[in-house]
Amino acid sequence: MYLKSLDIQGFKSFADKTHLEFDKGVTGIVGPNGCGKSNVVDAIRWVLGETSAKALRGGEMADVIFNGTDRRKPHNMAEVTMTMSECEGSLKMEFSEVAITRRVFRDGKSEYRINDKTCRLRDIHELFMDTGIGRSAYSIMAQGQIDQILSSKPEERRAVFEEAAGITKFKKDKKEALRKLDYTQANLLRTGDVIAEQERRMNSLKRQVSKARRFKELSGAVRILDTHLSHKNWAEFRATESELETNLKSIEREIDVLEVEPPGAEAAVVEIRNATQELESELSDLRQQISSHTAAAEAARSRLGFNDERRKDLNKRIEDVNRMLPTME
Ligand code: ATP
Ligand code: MG
Repeated sequence: MYLKSLDIQGFKSFADKTHLEFDKGVTGIVGPNGCGKSNVVDAIRWVLGETSAKALRGGEMADVIFNGTDRRKPHNMAEVTMTMSECEGSLKMEFSEVAITRRVFRDGKSEYRINDKTCRLRDIHELFMDTGIGRSAYSIMAQGQIDQILSSKPEERRAVFEEAAGITKFKKDKKEALRKLDYTQANLLRTGDVIAEQERRMNSLKRQVSKARRFKELSGAVRILDTHLSHKNWAEFRATESELETNLKSIEREIDVLEVEPPGAEAAVVEIRNATQELESELSDLRQQISSHTAAAEAARSRLGFNDERRKDLNKRIEDVNRMLPTME
């Protein structure tokens, strides 16, 4: 497997679409300071999935997009495609040529492709794992990095040798398996908790079930007793009812009798009232007669007085006349 070509467009100082062909053997890139030699390495590191802007000598990821010059406008997108050839043995793919592409836009959107098929960053990492090619693998040695590797910590050096020995993938698998084991153990613990909780619930449910059974038995007995009580009450009510009905009938009979009696009494009252009225009118007749008789008696008495006076007067005149008579003789 070898690096066949690199296509860069809009990445750092490569504003125009640039195609770099690498032949077998050693290829050297020569140029003055600041002409963009390291940018070629950055492009390779970036297309292999570098996510640290610092590792690409920038402040943020958008810094890799061509920023414009005095005479050129900035670009909105950076794209790098790296083509590897004779890959059959090295990569787990049946293609001889494998092209990986990374694209990023100013708004932060980005995409990865393997042989023009969209994929995840993870797929690119896995594709090159244990091949020595990768964003942090030993096959990319940037300016000053050899020095850094030689003087770096033993663990960091070990990582480089492990990648070269091709055990990184196994170590990663082991790490993943251990992580899964941890996760499964945590799950087991949680499941144990859940089982204990369910057992507690089951015991409580058992208690509830026995209570419910007892309740059912007792409520059955209550229903039977209730029926007996209701029947007894009903019989008593029936007896009271028939007694009351008998009483009612005798009262009704009394009412009938009483209802017949009043007309006789009423007739007697009416008769008495009529008799009273008659007597009263007789009484007033009599009173009238008495008063008219009294008046008549009074008139007779006064005529008697008057007649008496006249008689006395006439007697006096008779005497007077008698006295005078002798003289006349
Ligand atoms: P040296 O020989 O000093 O190591 P070099 O050839 O490696 O230099 P690089 O560091 O690759 O040069 O390139 C630096 C150049 O890239 C600078 O001129 C810088 O302006 C330019 N550059 C970096 N990022 C961008 C960008 N986003 N847009 C435009 N130009 C950029
Ligand atoms: Mg440089």
